[in-house]
Amino acid sequence: MEKSQLINLIGIPEARLKATLAEWGIAPYRALQVLNWIYNYQVERFDEMTNLSKDLRGRLARHYYVELPKIAEQTFSKDGTIKYLFDLANGSQVESVWMPDKKRNTLCISTQVGCRLACSFCLTGTLGLKGNLSTAEIIGQYMAVNRELPKVDQITNIVFMGMGEPLDNYQPVCEALRLMTSPRAMRISNRRITLSTAGLVDKIEQFKNENLPVNLAISLNATEDSTRNEIMPINKKYPIRVLLDCLRSYPLKPTRRITFEYVLLKGINDTPGDAKRLAKLLHGIPSKINLIPFNGFAESDYQAPAEAAILAFQKYLLSKNYSVFIRKNRGTDILGACGQLAARSFKETSVTVSS
Ligand code: SAH
Repeated sequence: MEKSQLINLIGIPEARLKATLAEWGIAPYRALQVLNWIYNYQVERFDEMTNLSKDLRGRLARHYYVELPKIAEQTFSKDGTIKYLFDLANGSQVESVWMPDKKRNTLCISTQVGCRLACSFCLTGTLGLKGNLSTAEIIGQYMAVNRELPKVDQITNIVFMGMGEPLDNYQPVCEALRLMTSPRAMRISNRRITLSTAGLVDKIEQFKNENLPVNLAISLNATEDSTRNEIMPINKKYPIRVLLDCLRSYPLKPTRRITFEYVLLKGINDTPGDAKRLAKLLHGIPSKINLIPFNGFAESDYQAPAEAAILAFQKYLLSKNYSVFIRKNRGTDILGACGQLAARSFKETSVTVSS
């Protein structure tokens, strides 16, 4: 059979795999064995799945193939961060960033090629939306990077903070989260996964009912609608008040908190008044605040505030008893930091334009 008629087994929901095997008259536990081979032993060839009958292996091979996105390029930062460029099957490219730390190794993964939200401080936003990643391409970034890394460097945490708006690619992202956290598939703890969103309120409402208790991060980035409208156009549809009201009823497990990300832009959202308003806005929401000093890129005029202003912003929020962290910029020398991901498609265009 032509490969085009086969289906990539990576990313297939458990229930669908079980249903297909049931149609073939195969017991459900066989589906679990297949998942175990794929996600725990990282076996990609059906003839290596030795606890399955020859007959079933043949049948699987006539129906499915196993394929991860291909790593086209790795770029190494001075601080240990590695940026991976992936070739997807349809010819587009996305990036993931691996960041080692003392106790954890975090992979920042992409969910879309480009992004339609056009936040003014984000390089990915300048691309517009070029496409959505499939479930296989989302979890495949994790699998492909882990396959490449030595054992001591294996990924411990995943953040959905790469290219794209995860909740704008809703179904594939939810299916990816389900496979990641399933004890029968990838077995990653909910606590080690963070989904970050610019605040698509209708999708957050829907997500409340998915029973996917991963960490939720909200890119707030401003304390007044006038400012947020300007830097995050999605705010015109879902203003700050509406977003925060939706979060007040978010089904958090005890001891868990919502993370608020706040990109600090000099002269735009970094005043003492902003710090005060932020403390008021988040009142009553179990929260943790990550301050991210702006990471620059050639096409942007924004600047990060001076260190003293960043520390003063943090200090005020600490005095109001918030947990506030200043996020270290990782991989800035390789355009691997927050808001700097754009893959080659963009760079090529910009080269053409400027030459
Ligand atoms: N679309 C999702 C996930 C991708 S952005 C979201 O908005 O949450 C991940 C984080 O990077 C967001 O919090 C965003 O505010 C931040 N970010 C984007 N561009 C940045 C830049 N140039 N400097 C610092 N942080 C940036």
